[in-house]
Formats: sequence, structure tokens, C-alpha cells
Amino acid sequence: AVIFAFTPAAFSQSKAKVKTSAPAKGLNPVIENKITALLAKMTIDEKVGQLNQYSSDKVVTGPITNSGNKLQDVKDGKIGSLLNVRGVDYTRQWQDAAMQSRLKIPLLFGLDVIHGYRTTFPIPLAEAASWDLDAIQLSARIAAEEASASGIHWTFAPMVDLARDPRWGRVMEGAGEDPFLGSAIARARVIGFQGKGLGNTDAVMACVKHFAAYGAAIGGRDYNSVDMSLRNLWEFYLPPFKAAAEAGAATFMNSFNDLNGTPASASKYLQTDILKSKWGFKGFVVSDWGSIREMVAHGYAKDTYEAADQAIHAGNDMDMEGRAYNNNLAKLVKDGKVSMAIVDEAVRRVLRKKYELGLFDDPYKFSNAEREKQTLNKQSFIDAERDVARKSMVLLKNQNQLLPLDKNKTVALIGPLVKSEADMKGFWSVDWEGKDHSVTLFEGMEAAGAKVNYAKGCDVSDTSRAGFAEAVKTAMKADVVVMAVGETAVMSGEAKSRSDITLPGVQEELIKAIQATGKPVVVLIMAGRPLVFNWTADHVPAIVYTWWLGNEAGNAIADVLYGKYNPSGKLPMTFPQSVGQVPIYYNYLNTGRPSKDDAFSKYSSGYLDITKRPKYAFGYGLSYTKFEYSDLKLSKNDMRKAEEITVSFTIKNTGKYAGEEVAQLYLQDAVSQPVRPVKELKGFKKLMLQPGESKTVSFVIDKDKLSFYNNDLQWITQPGKFNVFIGSASDDIRLQKSFNLLD
Ligand code: BGC
Repeated sequence: AVIFAFTPAAFSQSKAKVKTSAPAKGLNPVIENKITALLAKMTIDEKVGQLNQYSSDKVVTGPITNSGNKLQDVKDGKIGSLLNVRGVDYTRQWQDAAMQSRLKIPLLFGLDVIHGYRTTFPIPLAEAASWDLDAIQLSARIAAEEASASGIHWTFAPMVDLARDPRWGRVMEGAGEDPFLGSAIARARVIGFQGKGLGNTDAVMACVKHFAAYGAAIGGRDYNSVDMSLRNLWEFYLPPFKAAAEAGAATFMNSFNDLNGTPASASKYLQTDILKSKWGFKGFVVSDWGSIREMVAHGYAKDTYEAADQAIHAGNDMDMEGRAYNNNLAKLVKDGKVSMAIVDEAVRRVLRKKYELGLFDDPYKFSNAEREKQTLNKQSFIDAERDVARKSMVLLKNQNQLLPLDKNKTVALIGPLVKSEADMKGFWSVDWEGKDHSVTLFEGMEAAGAKVNYAKGCDVSDTSRAGFAEAVKTAMKADVVVMAVGETAVMSGEAKSRSDITLPGVQEELIKAIQATGKPVVVLIMAGRPLVFNWTADHVPAIVYTWWLGNEAGNAIADVLYGKYNPSGKLPMTFPQSVGQVPIYYNYLNTGRPSKDDAFSKYSSGYLDITKRPKYAFGYGLSYTKFEYSDLKLSKNDMRKAEEITVSFTIKNTGKYAGEEVAQLYLQDAVSQPVRPVKELKGFKKLMLQPGESKTVSFVIDKDKLSFYNNDLQWITQPGKFNVFIGSASDDIRLQKSFNLLD
């Protein structure tokens, strides 16, 4: 069946009327009737107010200050939502003001709760490396429990942008490069944030962002244009958004980029045709920060009057800090450019969420100071954070089983990030004015009983080698060296694109100097993106990628170094060996010049100077133990479209340590039109095995897993041969078989 009939006209910005007829399926008629009654009482200014979101002045306790006329605007019903607010005390004052407005419509309070609220969890990309959906969901759940106890109704997360370019600083916020893993994680995060559903006092609304294709910004430059085929969009970039919508996400955020020439905020194709019509989304769409206004800078709209006109017709319901609706929407209605029905539809969507949250029954529902005190930073949350952090690390190399470390050995801790506290939280952590301590590596190792010496060696971005001599001296005194290098937390995140993603400064030179001492060296790399560190990868015996792990970082790392936790993470993004390979991803399309990743053969689709092989592949990650795969069976060799095939195999832990393995299922459509990827993740299972233990793993392959979008954007299957790959990483396929899909 045609999933979406694409014509160039469908992609253009026609001002087709938005339907505002009787309550659609899945809506609560009681709420819809209340909204209808309320809308009838509202003036146009009050309606525009509901579509208007401002940032507060970020004061958390004490009286509202420096807020200009915003407080008065709330009293006048001109603001529907505030972002950058938190805390029961502070949000209550704003809600008090809303209760003084004519219609007493409660305010919505939003905040970027991206990886934890008070208890700071690992950055989202790190959590994605756990491939542990329960852990990821729990992290979002705890964030929601804390945020909702602290006055917040709405988080601007999850970010589900597929990312194939590590130069882009925002890769740290997402789940990496794969649509299947990304969809599973998107679902887990939405369910985590929204808990048992809106209306429960511990549920916050999720906001799926950035719709859409923000991660494909040209050159990895933040806010840059995106130019891609619609097939690429549907096949790779949209699935995590669709999964999040299906999981019941309350809201969506559009994005700063233009997609094929249309700024996302002006895209009727994305917001109305796909999201609201095709996917049946009943929540509301908020712009990104000032993204409606930005259409003027884009050269897409002459002024904010025109921008507001474009955005409201495209299906952008709320204007975040743009003032484009605030200043123009009433006039647009008066001038007959925007119908009242279109405004009403947007307002209805916003009010619907306020009703569903229960704010009309009790505007102070999330406003209980005692609950706030009891909930934030609970010990059980901190313990959970430590566990998620341990699961997020990826063991990249462990020659001669250098890890885990022997407790009796003396350790030299060397590097600019050993004692860094602020960096442990990572970008996009909620600003607690330094009140919460994050455990540094140094503290974590000391708490684990390690005998440590320390030398900094250099700063992250230093060009000076002045500290090397002392670092070498410190290393010489120890049995083993653990180095903490990488980026500072503010080197990844929004507006943090980098053209050179090697280890900054002289850090790799420091590693060389320490390695030259002959002491065994473990390198920990702390970063918000895949970095390039070829010398280290080729010469240092042990490497752990720790990302940014949150408040318990140091403790979690010590758990891994001493074997209290056996690492189980797998890379959710490909690590290039050179930035020149970017964009690089495992599920690239077959070319007419297929070659081994390592081949330099003439006229292959590689490079003259390096192989096309990544440094570390998607899905890669080691354990302290070894897993053996065997005995692959398919339940049949031929499958009809209505049938399923069960794939089963055995995994055995053949090493000395108990450990978890993430078994991965990849499929390849051997012959297809259009050309399709060399392999695609279609299943994964994380399982724990004791030494010597075997387990049978099975996956079910149904028609859906074999389907794809053709160039007419039809969701189709084509009969023929499919290859089944079972592996421990996308480049470490252990078992392989094939079957035929029959007509
Ligand atoms: C970011 C969003 C974020 C918003 C509010 C924007 O600059 O792109 O992801 O939610 O700011 O802080």
C-alpha cells in the first residue's frame, strides 16, 4: 500500500485547510467538549497567548526577578507556557499569576531534562551504548519522577535525531546512527518520561525532537541545511520519530534546519501531512527556540508576520521564545490571512494536554514542596545512576587482559580529566549552580580502595608539554597507569560542531610519553562524540570509552576497572579512523564496486590513502569474558509473506567472568530495487551468562523486518534471497545463513 503519496506538490507549502471537525478517534469527548466551551469564551489575544511560550528568568528560589513584563503578561493571559523554570517554589509563583488571569488557564512548565533532572545520568549517547532498554527507560523514569516533583510538566526530550556525522556536536543527545536501535530507544525514553500516562503526578510530557532530519546537517555544522532524498528520510531518519509518536509522545518539537529548502517550522509536509495526518498525532508541535522567527534569517519569510503565517499553516502550534505568533497572529486573523479555525485547532491541541495533565482540576498538582524534598537525589536514584553509568561504557581494547586491574597494584592517575568534576555531568545537564557533586575519577578510585598517585600532564586543549615530565615521573612510580583524556563537556552539545575530532591539544602526545615508560597503560576516553585517536588505539593495550557518565561517573568507572562490573556496552555510532571518512555508518548502500573494507584495490569505492574501514564499527564492544556463537538454525528456508521465520542460535560464555553480551541480528536483501544497505540491524538481545553457561537466543523475522520504502515512498517487500547475519558487532559476524522470501 502507498504509505504516503509523494508529489512535489505535497512537499510544497500549500495552505490547505486544516480540518477542525468532530473529535477524532482516540480523543476523550469529555475533554474535547470542555475545550470547545473554553474556546468559545476566549478572545483572540487569549488564544494567541496559549500558543506563546517564553523563557523565564531562571531564578529557582525566591521571588521572580528580572522578568520584565512577563509576569504581567501571564496575568493578562498572554502566555501559555514557560520554559527554563524549575522548582516548586518558583513555578508556584508563576502559576499564581496565571490564576489571576481572566480565564485562569494554567501555565505549562517546560525544561530540557535531557539526561536526568537532579540525579544526572549519562549523556543520551552513552546510555544508547548500553543497548539496555530497561536501563534507558529507568533513567527517563527517574528524571520524570524528580522533574515532576519539582514543578515541571514537560521535558524537551527525547532527541531522536539519527546521527552519522560525529563532527556535529549534538550527537551526544541522541541514540546514534541506527534507525532500529534508535526507534527502540525512542520508545523506551517516551515510556520512561510519561510513565503510566499523563494525569499521573509523576508523568512529564515527552517532546520528541527535532522534527526532522536535523542530524543530517551538511558538514556536521549545527543549524545547517539538510538536503536528502525523501526515501532516505523515510527509511532512516523518520522511524525513531514514528516509534516515539506510536509510544504516545505528547508533543513534538520542530527544528532549525531547512529540509530540501523548507525550514522545518514551515514544513506542512512534516508537521501536518506526516505527523498529524499520516501518523494521527494528537499532541501539539512546539517550534524550536525562535525557529519561526528564524525563517526571516533563512530568507524564507520577509518578516515575522509572513513567518507566523507560514508556521501556523504548516502545523506548528506553539512558538518557543520567537514572539512571531505573539506579535502577528491576531493581525493575521484580522487581515483574513489565517482563519480562526486554524488558530483554534492549535489552541485545542495545547489545551488538550493541559486537561490531560489534570492542570485544570489542580493547577498546583506538580507543586508539592514536601514531595520535592523527598524525591530529589534519593539514594535509590543515585544507585540506579551508577548502574546505568556502568552499563554505558564501551571496552574498546584489552590486550593481554590488562583489565580488570589487580587491587594490590599501585595506580598512577594521569590526565586532564582525572580530577575534573564539572565535566562528568556532560552537556545539557540541569544547572544546579554547582550544588551537586559529581564523583571524579580520582575520588571513585580512592573510594574503591586504590593506591593512587596523580599528575595532570596537561589540560584538554593545552599546547604546552610542561606537565609531561612530572606525569612521566608519576607513572614510573606506579605498577599501572590509568589515563583520563578526551573532550571537556562543553565541546559537544548544541552549537558544538568540530571540524577536527582528534583528541584535542597535546593529549595524544601525553599518552605517547606515558606509554614510552613501558608501564601498562589504560586509557579512558571521556567525550560526547566518537573521537579519532589512532595512535592510542594502535599502541595502548587497554581503552575504555566512558563518554560523560553523570554524577556517579568516578564510582562507575572504578567498578569497571576493578571488575566489579564487566563492561557490556556496544558502540551506537561508527568511529572513523579519519574525519575524512565522515559521514560514515555501517548500513551504507551496496555500491557497484563492492570491496572488502580493507582493500585498496583499484577503482573500489574507497580511498587511496586509507582503507574505508572504520576504526571501531557500529555494535562493537568487548567484555572481560569471551562469547562463542554456534548452531544457527532457521525455522524454514522459504518464507511466504504472511509467515514468519524463527532464527535461533547458541551463545556460550567461554571465559572466566560472568558477563553480558548484546547479540545482534542483521539482515541483507540480496537483490533489490532500489539499492539497499549491505546490512541492517533488525534485532538485538542483551543477555547475562555465567562462565561456562550457554543460552539459546531467538529472533522472529516477519514481513515488516523485510520491508522498505521504494522511490515512490511505498512500503514494500520484494521476493528473493535474504541473508541473515548474527554477530557480536556489525563487523564481527559469527554466523550466517540465508532464506528466500516467496511471492
Ligand atoms: C534547542 C532545543 C532545546 C531548546 C530549549 C534549542 O536551542 O535546539 O533542543 O530544547 O533550545 O532549550
